[in-house]
Amino acid sequence: MESEVGSRKAEGGSEVGSRKAEGGRGTGEEGRRNAEGGSQESRLPASEFALPTFFEGLYENCNLCPRACGVNRLEGESGFCREKGDLRVSYVGPHFGEEPPLTGTRGSGTVFFTGCSLRCSYCQNFQISRDSVGSSMKIEDLLKRIILMIKEKGVHNINMVTPDHFFPHVFRVSELLRETGSKLPIVYNLSGYQSKAMLEMAEPLVEIYLPDFKYSDRELSSRLSGCGDYPDVALEAVTEMLEQKGFLDSFKDESSLAGKGVLVRHMILPGRIQNSLDVLTTLFLEFGSGLPLSLMSQYAPVRPQKLGDLNRSVKIDEFDRVYRHALELGFERLFVQFPEERSSGPTCRTPFLPDFRRDDPFAPR
Ligand code: SF4
Repeated sequence: MESEVGSRKAEGGSEVGSRKAEGGRGTGEEGRRNAEGGSQESRLPASEFALPTFFEGLYENCNLCPRACGVNRLEGESGFCREKGDLRVSYVGPHFGEEPPLTGTRGSGTVFFTGCSLRCSYCQNFQISRDSVGSSMKIEDLLKRIILMIKEKGVHNINMVTPDHFFPHVFRVSELLRETGSKLPIVYNLSGYQSKAMLEMAEPLVEIYLPDFKYSDRELSSRLSGCGDYPDVALEAVTEMLEQKGFLDSFKDESSLAGKGVLVRHMILPGRIQNSLDVLTTLFLEFGSGLPLSLMSQYAPVRPQKLGDLNRSVKIDEFDRVYRHALELGFERLFVQFPEERSSGPTCRTPFLPDFRRDDPFAPR
């Protein structure tokens, strides 16, 4: 993310559903302190690492996401996400490509999981969402990897990327991290296609939600992600997230790290600008101009797409239309991923894509 505009309401805090926000762990200030200096001792918990029966049972008749496949993943069945009952992980390590309040100076401590409950045709992380690049990992081994990352890299938060199809394991790891003494904010980095029931379960285990809001166009969400109900599900999900955590709390000054709250992301799709304009209008009407919003121009065609426009990147004038609309609506807490070489070419520069077959997927190559 290259630029942040507007922070006039930085002191204002959440304006949406603060009913539950007070009940979460830690205030924003506390969260920031924790983010800077959370305990990084690897005091491994005395509790058992195994999934508690209740969490394990969530994999039977799986309803972890709104697909509600009803398969028994404990018996080796898999649903739309193509994952069974074993936790599978693609990468654990610092990532410097998130928004500044998450990346800070030492990176966001990401955990990427294999598989995905959305499986968008244009997925930017195709290797892990579709090709299952990754390996099985026990809870204790993932916990050790995370604790090592905290100690060695000093990451500012623990960022669970697309965790929803593994929520039972992720919930348990989140609990165990607390038992080690870590006070780093836990981030659930989500597609926006989550059920309210799962988010209610997540509430005590997470500080920051980072949801996408991909579509307002049902025909488009049906065609590209196989779920015509995405706009309705995402609206309910983001509403629940905001009721739990409020707006992201990192707007006091430009160097503030996020400790708690919600930041909504939207990636512009080439040739589908009306969808983006409508997404922004919907977010403004539902949550107001104080909603922290991240506008992303990074789309790159990873695999050949049936929708012709998706085989190119976003044009500069397409980006400008969406960006102008965000400014006209008056979003005050806006992160913008500006196209590079904005003035020298007709389309946004094809961005760097991670390669999850490498030990460090984000290393330059
Ligand atoms: S998590 Fe996977 S198996 Fe479970 S409901 Fe969602 S897509 Fe289906």
